[in-house]
Amino acid sequence: MTAKALIKDFEAIVGKDNVLTSEADLASYSYDAAVLPNAMPGLVVRPTTSEQLGKTVKLCNDNAIPMTVRGSGTNLSGGTIPSKGGIVVLTTALNRILEINEEDLYAVVEPGVITSKFAGEVTKRGLFYPPDPGSQTVSTLGGNVAENAGGLRGLKYGVTKDYVMGMTFYDVNGELVKTGGKTVKCVTGYNLTGLMVGAEGTLGVYDTITLKLVPPPAAAKAMMAVFDTVMDACRAVAAIIAAKIVPATLELMDNFTIRTVENFRNAGLPTEAGALLLIEVDGHPAMVEEDAIKVEDICKKNKASTVRVAKDAAERNAVWQARRDALPALAKVKPTTVLEDATVPRSKIPAMMSALEDIAKKYSLTIGTFGHAGDGNLHPTILTDKRNTEEWHRVEAAIDEIFDHALALGGTLSGEHGIGMAKAKYMKQECGIAAIEYSKRMKSVLDPKGILNPGKLIVG
Ligand SMILES: Cc1cc2nc3c(=O)[nH]c(=O)nc-3n(C[C@H](O)[C@H](O)[C@H](O)COP(=O)(O)OP(=O)(O)OC[C@H]3O[C@@H](n4cnc5c(N)ncnc54)[C@H](O)[C@@H]3O)c2cc1C
Repeated sequence: MTAKALIKDFEAIVGKDNVLTSEADLASYSYDAAVLPNAMPGLVVRPTTSEQLGKTVKLCNDNAIPMTVRGSGTNLSGGTIPSKGGIVVLTTALNRILEINEEDLYAVVEPGVITSKFAGEVTKRGLFYPPDPGSQTVSTLGGNVAENAGGLRGLKYGVTKDYVMGMTFYDVNGELVKTGGKTVKCVTGYNLTGLMVGAEGTLGVYDTITLKLVPPPAAAKAMMAVFDTVMDACRAVAAIIAAKIVPATLELMDNFTIRTVENFRNAGLPTEAGALLLIEVDGHPAMVEEDAIKVEDICKKNKASTVRVAKDAAERNAVWQARRDALPALAKVKPTTVLEDATVPRSKIPAMMSALEDIAKKYSLTIGTFGHAGDGNLHPTILTDKRNTEEWHRVEAAIDEIFDHALALGGTLSGEHGIGMAKAKYMKQECGIAAIEYSKRMKSVLDPKGILNPGKLIVG
């Protein structure tokens, strides 16, 4: 079939206005938030209904056209770069919240719904959807599910997978598959829902997603603990966990990140501090009071010079704004920002932090580290300029070494940003050859022509 005939076929499915062919449009969908080479798609298609989505998938499969589904393209692992060309399928028009059920505590959404818009609608009904990736004002729920996105509340509330009760998705033949349901318990059949979460668009295309909602915490208290050294802060993290307190949030910022954030916003952060812990406890008001006192005490016993407890909502927001500023502030320092996602068992955070310091020195690189310390999920952020080829080689070597260290400490390649193209080459190192071969066999049966997001997650 000729390219022109194919365009006509896609237009017949989604309408002329929803098939984008101009050079500017194709360039706009050739990259995402990862620092990787871009790749132009042949066409961009934007279904506006579930039926159109299914027909689009089927047409791609019938013609063996690679297809890359794209929400907002904020993923940090190259998951939406159409590396094999073909079609980019946009979910931005599939953006309806179909149901928010206040009796049974679930919601049904289309994949293109923006995360924070959904969380806001849920809050209006007196309920709570905890997953809160830093990109939530832009990211889509489909993208969150495909990357199994996390966020600041992961420690206590878990990540996206803990909230996906079920879904409908299109298989490569354009057949609608239903999995999971609206009941708290549902163990019918294979756990296809579990398989599809975190599959990064390589096994099927989400049509609707059923998400669990929870009651919101009645009270919350945020605080900022200031330490002279990163190691003291890391020890405080371990001590809080060991004391069997589970804060909703337990975030770390190193000195470089603190200074950069302060330059960015003048929020009054202590720029001399070796590290900060930003902590929030939530739950029943009496328990919140008690936990806050215990956390403050533990921080002080672990050499915190000060612990500032937010007195009101404005101070609490200021604490979280400082954390939310970390990535944008670091990203302004140099032209290229490589945000990594190395995750280790919590007790290994001190070892990982000192490995990161050594790696920065060894390769003469600027690495600012912040992250979800309570989850062992660190975001070492390398500030560089990709046009400087010599420096870029050092960056690549440093990234390899970061993952070598994380894996040697019993950690993982990704706490929340997925594998995509960026980390596919390390998969064998973490999972072993048998897991790769098993995954490849599964993929070849479910997607025999290899059209679903080829070149991602499982390669080689
Ligand atoms: C500033 C910034 C902060 C961030 N903070 C966090 C954070 O705190 N925590 C975190 O986890 N991540 C974070 N991220 C990464 C990113 O926002 C998440 O991975 C997010 O889930 C991606 O959503 P998206 O809509 O942009 O998806 P996209 O990037 O468009 O797609 C991501 C993956 O989902 C697949 N996909 C999308 N829709 C579907 C569908 N309908 N069916 C099947 N597959 C589909 C795509 O093919 C791709 O593989 C951050 C990114 C940025 C830029």
